Amino acid sequence: MVDHSLREHSIYGFSGWHRWSNCPGSAQRCEGVEQTSSDAAAEGTWKHERVDEILRDVPRSDEPGGPYDTEDNWDQVNKVVEYVRDLVASCSIFTPADVWHEQRLSFDGVGSPEVFGTADLTIYDEDEKHLYMGDYKFGQVLVSPQGNGQLMMAASAAILELPIHPKLITLMILQPIGNNPFKLHTITKEELDAWEAEEMWPALQAAQQDGAPIVPGTEQCKYCPVKGNCPEQRQKNIDVFEDHQRVLKDDEYTDLLPQLDEMEQFIKAVREQALDFAKKGGNIKGYKLVQSVTHRKWLDESKAESWIARNTSLKVSDRRVTKLLSVPQMVKALKTEALDKKKWTAFDKYVFQPPGQIKLVPESDSGRPVDISNPILDGELI
Ligand code: SF4
Repeated sequence: MVDHSLREHSIYGFSGWHRWSNCPGSAQRCEGVEQTSSDAAAEGTWKHERVDEILRDVPRSDEPGGPYDTEDNWDQVNKVVEYVRDLVASCSIFTPADVWHEQRLSFDGVGSPEVFGTADLTIYDEDEKHLYMGDYKFGQVLVSPQGNGQLMMAASAAILELPIHPKLITLMILQPIGNNPFKLHTITKEELDAWEAEEMWPALQAAQQDGAPIVPGTEQCKYCPVKGNCPEQRQKNIDVFEDHQRVLKDDEYTDLLPQLDEMEQFIKAVREQALDFAKKGGNIKGYKLVQSVTHRKWLDESKAESWIARNTSLKVSDRRVTKLLSVPQMVKALKTEALDKKKWTAFDKYVFQPPGQIKLVPESDSGRPVDISNPILDGELI
């Protein structure tokens, strides 16, 4: 099993593409800077490692019963494993597909050994001359394979380093959440070559030059290891205050709102940094570390209940709570009942949809625009 924390790191690595292609100077600035890990990132790594072990058919390397060893997490792990196995089987009709897990790939073959990364999953279907380049994602932010520079870099390097000659390349984001967990986008080898020539090499050249520009922005700063500690990012936020030191005019919101996202990100990064510093023993005058209050939990529910049954007079109804399924759970359960239209109409009379909270989002957001002339939205507007 590959220990993700021991992965070699290139400052021009595939996974940093989105950052250094938008902020060229970030590649050199981040050299040697350790990425602070959050609990969510550690949980993602845990799922990633389990997927990898199962697909490689090697024993599990972690201790069972750890904090991430939950039914929900295993459900996500198994969904990805099942999808990958089905895909490999579908690529192996005449000739068994070649599969590489956690493959280190580089541009050494074209004189750029410093540009390398690790591909989570590489599958090659020789019969169809089809390369599948996959990335496991376990975060809540949905990722698209379309125009995904990380996957395209990995595919370009794979074609250089592996014994493959694809005509088609499918970029895959395997993210087992939501309605569309396995997103694929297929491009031709010619399209990949054009992207490499027109975007990848110029971006690399810009990032490798002395004094490469530092360009703050919401997307690139989000996962940058120096976020919160970057003078240009800080200055950009200060400029926002200086530019808006008076009552805002209506037409200023369009420019200002995206900058607020960046400011929130910056503030969050500074808070995380301070917490990390304090957890490592650093002293921040006027502040202390405290632990949040938690509720007591059962160590083992069934053992606890057997003990209560044997040692107390509480009946099952006294010690258990039963409640009706949620509406979506009930609709799912009722599928087996084959209710007719009349019964579904009667059922609907017991269901209502509360109005959602109103949010202001960019026009590109997939949400349906609110009709502010509709007085039944909720109490906020009427
Ligand atoms: S924090 Fe943002 S601006 Fe600063 S180096 Fe990183 S990506 Fe660039």
